[in-house]
Amino acid sequence: MNRSPKEILQNIWGFREFKGSQEKAVTALLEKRDVLALMPTGGGKSLCFQIPALAMEGICIVISPLVALIQDQVDTLKKHGIKAIALTGGISFEEVNDLLDNCLYGNYKFLYLSPERLQQELIQDRLRQMKVNLIAIDEAHCISQWGHDFRPAYLDCSKLRELLPEVPFIALTATATEHVAQDIVVNLKLIDPLIIKDSYARKNIAFEVYWEEDKQYRLKLLCADLKKSAIVYVRTRRLAQSLAQFLKSQGAAASYYHGGLSNTEKKDRLNLWLENKVKIMVATNAFGMGIDKPDVALVVHYQIPECLENYFQEAGRAGRDDAAARAIILTNKNDEIQLKNQFLSVLPDTAFLKLAYNKLNNYFQIPFGEGSHETFYLNFNEFCEVYKLNSFLAYNALLILDQNSVIALSESFSRKITVRFIITNEQLFTYLDSHPEIMPMVQTLLRTYGGIFEYDTKINSLLIAKKAMVAETEVLHTLEILQKDGIIAYQAKNNDLMITFLVPREDERTINVFAKIVKERQQLKIRKLESMIGYLHNNRMCRNRQLMAYFGEKDSLDCGICDVCRSKTTPDPDVLKTTTRHILEILNQNNRTSRQLIREMAYGEKIILSALQELLEDGKIHINTKNEYQIG
Ligand code: ADP
Ligand code: MG
Repeated sequence: MNRSPKEILQNIWGFREFKGSQEKAVTALLEKRDVLALMPTGGGKSLCFQIPALAMEGICIVISPLVALIQDQVDTLKKHGIKAIALTGGISFEEVNDLLDNCLYGNYKFLYLSPERLQQELIQDRLRQMKVNLIAIDEAHCISQWGHDFRPAYLDCSKLRELLPEVPFIALTATATEHVAQDIVVNLKLIDPLIIKDSYARKNIAFEVYWEEDKQYRLKLLCADLKKSAIVYVRTRRLAQSLAQFLKSQGAAASYYHGGLSNTEKKDRLNLWLENKVKIMVATNAFGMGIDKPDVALVVHYQIPECLENYFQEAGRAGRDDAAARAIILTNKNDEIQLKNQFLSVLPDTAFLKLAYNKLNNYFQIPFGEGSHETFYLNFNEFCEVYKLNSFLAYNALLILDQNSVIALSESFSRKITVRFIITNEQLFTYLDSHPEIMPMVQTLLRTYGGIFEYDTKINSLLIAKKAMVAETEVLHTLEILQKDGIIAYQAKNNDLMITFLVPREDERTINVFAKIVKERQQLKIRKLESMIGYLHNNRMCRNRQLMAYFGEKDSLDCGICDVCRSKTTPDPDVLKTTTRHILEILNQNNRTSRQLIREMAYGEKIILSALQELLEDGKIHINTKNEYQIG
């Protein structure tokens, strides 16, 4: 291997130049110096550790918080022909053992781990035997209690320092306030680290906030003359679907995306959007991981995000191509009240956490003292219904259990299907005589599941599809037909969450361990929400400067393109004159509302409103009873 970093960048990734401070990070690591890299989303953090790892002998250990993030990176590395392994939750002991053997003897260059894995002694033992060249802690803000995504298991990352004292560390994050950055250095025990700070500022994005009673109407206008791609973020799956439908009904090429879709649906929709066949994706925050489309010109937040960290990350998916882009929050007083109510009333207290954890164990019939490393699929709505739990509260409770490594939670999609034949063998063969095309599938079903004439039998539709060599959708379709024709009893349930229990069930004791932290975290969440709402209301300071100040960049300049900056500049008198004349021409033919004028005219909204104001003041127009402007 031993090629120079530049060669690796060019030959393996095909990039000509390093981006931002990548090269500084690479050089420091090759000199065995610790690094703290604070770089914006999309700033190219991964290469900061991937390149030095490839330039050196040995293997690089990467800690990352989310299965999906890990999978994404491992897939990318494999695509470039680099050997990488992921060790996440839900893998059996033997498999882990085999994978670690591969790392020891198989010339692997990257081992990705969830922080929970580090707590296992087996892993620690093996790490000690490996020739580790570098340790990378990705999304390092997770180690700080002041971060928006604290995961206590991250604190164990410092164990790596004890295990492998000679190996340099790099910690990376895109969302660190000063306080969080400090926490990272202390908690990871970084030694005299090189601190790299690329400004988080996104100069080509105009950040805007619109207070708007009729948000739907405003959204329609924003989407009407869209040339490039857009993302509209909402907070619920239902709204994602209905808003996409609304936009479609208005002639826009829109689709929707959320965690409740099957993997194939997700992939298909993402591809349509990437190929520009769908322009507007209305999505929950499930649409985010690995979204790296360069030409997104507009990101709209149709509902208020929970904190500025999330907002900035999501808004930052606009304008990756460095072309002009807009990030807009559409909001109103109702939204604000609703968010406060919803948000505050669904923060689970200790008693509720205990209740939810207890019910979860009961639901899967896990005995006391057991359950560790077992994986289940959960139909979340059914779970809430069975135990009469408020679904927002229950979901937040699951998130907290996940954060504190009691369970590993991932959004998933699987069907639980049961089938029983409700006719005799002879009747079935008569039926098949007239439906020969489904013969192979039905025969596979009969051969695979012995008691399927006697009992409701749980079947694996993918397995049947593979064996019968048809598509899974065809299996499901055929089952529906068989049900309609009275051949089988058929039930299909969608399970949308995958849960792996990480520790044995100990009821209250399991929760008591972190109850105090949860309380503190919730107070922090409330403060973060207040900062978010403060941003919406502050129309005196440049939006970009507000955001940068929040992330500790105090010396940033007015961006000149956000709504606040634009409102400070008075309109160009020439443009104002032309606009005024044009308005009079239109009103001469017909009365118009301000909305109609804004839609029909090619001028900016602000200038139109200024022109109308002037005309009103001069007595050249007035507003009639239908709220229209009228000459005279
Ligand atoms: P981050 O983790 O900082 O959000 P990534 O490491 O995922 O960012 O990189 C974001 C994108 O930038 C990826 O598509 C990556 O391939 C690209 N990229 C990284 N380094 C360079 C570079 N030197 N030149 C061009 N593109 C780069
Ligand atoms: Mg990254």
